[in-house]
Amino acid sequence: MSAPTPETIFCYHCRIHHPKAEMRLLVTKTGKRWRCLKSIEATKQGKAAREAYGRQMTETNKAEARSKARLLNAHQ
Ligand SMILES: [Zn+2]
Repeated sequence: MSAPTPETIFCYHCRIHHPKAEMRLLVTKTGKRWRCLKSIEATKQGKAAREAYGRQMTETNKAEARSKARLLNAHQ
């Protein structure tokens, strides 16, 4: 633990320290917070991925509802 460490900043998103070069200071309603670029990018991608997933789930649910309706009809 005596080796010199590069300057790091605590990432409030990951709850760990990252090298300062990977960090960005965000100003929020509650104050300034350091967040890493990776988490910022992941949030952006996550939003797009969630939207795509939501669309996919809607289609899956529709297909499932159709197959369930078929099963119900088969049992009647
Ligand atoms: Zn982070």
